[in-house]
Amino acid sequence: MKVLSVASEIFPLVKTGGLADVAGALPLALKAQGVETKTLVPGYPAVMAAIGTAQSILRFEDLMGSPADVLKASVGGLDLLVLEAPALFDRPGGPYLGTDGKDYPDNWRRFAALSKAGAEIAGGALAGWQPDLVHVHDWQTGLLPAYMLYGEKPAIPSVMTIHNIAFQGNFSAAIFPELGLPAHALAMEGVEYYGMVGYLKAGLQTAWAISTVSPSYAEEILTPEFGMGLEGLLNRRTLDLHGIVNGIDTDVWNPAVDPLIERDYSAADTSARRANKRAMEAQFGLDQDDAPLFCVISRLTWQKGMDLVADAVDDLVALGGKLAVLGSGDEALVAALRDAAARHPGRVAITVGYNEPLSHLMQAGSDAILIPSRFEPCGLTQLYGLRYGCVPVVSRTGGLNDTVIDANPAALASGSATGISFGPVTLDGLKRAIRRSIRLYREPDTWASLQTQGMASDVSWDKSAALYAKLYSSLLPKGSH
Ligand code: ADP
Repeated sequence: MKVLSVASEIFPLVKTGGLADVAGALPLALKAQGVETKTLVPGYPAVMAAIGTAQSILRFEDLMGSPADVLKASVGGLDLLVLEAPALFDRPGGPYLGTDGKDYPDNWRRFAALSKAGAEIAGGALAGWQPDLVHVHDWQTGLLPAYMLYGEKPAIPSVMTIHNIAFQGNFSAAIFPELGLPAHALAMEGVEYYGMVGYLKAGLQTAWAISTVSPSYAEEILTPEFGMGLEGLLNRRTLDLHGIVNGIDTDVWNPAVDPLIERDYSAADTSARRANKRAMEAQFGLDQDDAPLFCVISRLTWQKGMDLVADAVDDLVALGGKLAVLGSGDEALVAALRDAAARHPGRVAITVGYNEPLSHLMQAGSDAILIPSRFEPCGLTQLYGLRYGCVPVVSRTGGLNDTVIDANPAALASGSATGISFGPVTLDGLKRAIRRSIRLYREPDTWASLQTQGMASDVSWDKSAALYAKLYSSLLPKGSH
């Protein structure tokens, strides 16, 4: 089976969040299922640098107003199709934001170009490689199935995965004439969304199947609270909607052989975690002691419940805990967490920024990771936590709900608990969860059982890759695969 995956970021080349991890890991896991994936990604500077000189296998003289090439490359076992369009992607900022921290004003054009190029490839534009199916991710690729539906070539099956429904890619209808879609596409059955052009909406409307990254989130987005305006559409498509939980790359994230941590260890003997804790405390300027060390590795946003963390810090410290935060995001939240660190020198510290190596050390050295998200499509940091014996303390929502087993009396008695979960997501709820965590930490056998049970959880892609392969097969003509 040949699949064209189209994504706006991909680990290890360019990453702003979980989407990149999934786009980078799923193709490798699908190989074992007999699925050959090529991934179309924008030629950002980091991508161009990583691929070196590469051959152009397709040329567009005019792709949304500028020339573009599709380059063939292979990086870390991933087969890439890189959309080299310097006018759109060769910029010094991030994938979506300029150096001023604001969205690029032509994001609509940049990602329409990505989608259009993908639709051309789906329609057979590449000599010698005809995909059987297209898999698109998030709003940046939402127009692709619409381009296929309204295009001249027969559409091939498509799957659209929602990694976060909060990011919808809605633009003024004034851009519509430039998209190259027929006039009747600007309708409820097409790309129109409350008088605008909705890229995510377009994909959800026109893709053959929809998936999201956990079963719980698949249920939640059918409600007004979580559907963010798209619940009506999704309710009309429940038979096409699937929830498949993300896995992680268990080679990149393996405490037994992780070059980014101070000392390797495995579930059989976690005593080396202490050396990682010391290294981490040193790096953060925290006191070196055996008090329970909580960490946060996150975008610092309301979605992630970071305001609650800032408000719970004093309690956490009063109960004898320590906290290390790695993240960036809302200025006000950064300031609140910096204040907390200033109030509690040696007990609370924050590193602002994005630091992949430090995130590994934190999973290896912290006792627990706090994830009080208000909504969480899947969440990956709790999965890394499970794998590293860093006990996840999570809100009971979305993928957090599907991957962490709360240490309630029954689960503790049966030895199945892997973390601490709480709901509803309020300051009081978080404080109670922190208190419960510290109490459990002070029972070394119980805590060790949470760690070993977590480390034994299957967080690999194996099961979920099989589910994606099954979903793909269900969309192909009977008997073809
Ligand atoms: P989201 O995609 O909503 O941001 P996920 O939990 O799905 O949340 O994925 C976040 C990914 O980004 C994880 O791999 C996490 O380790 C990583 N991450 C988040 N913030 C940072 C940071 N400041 N430094 C390093 N890695 C980070």
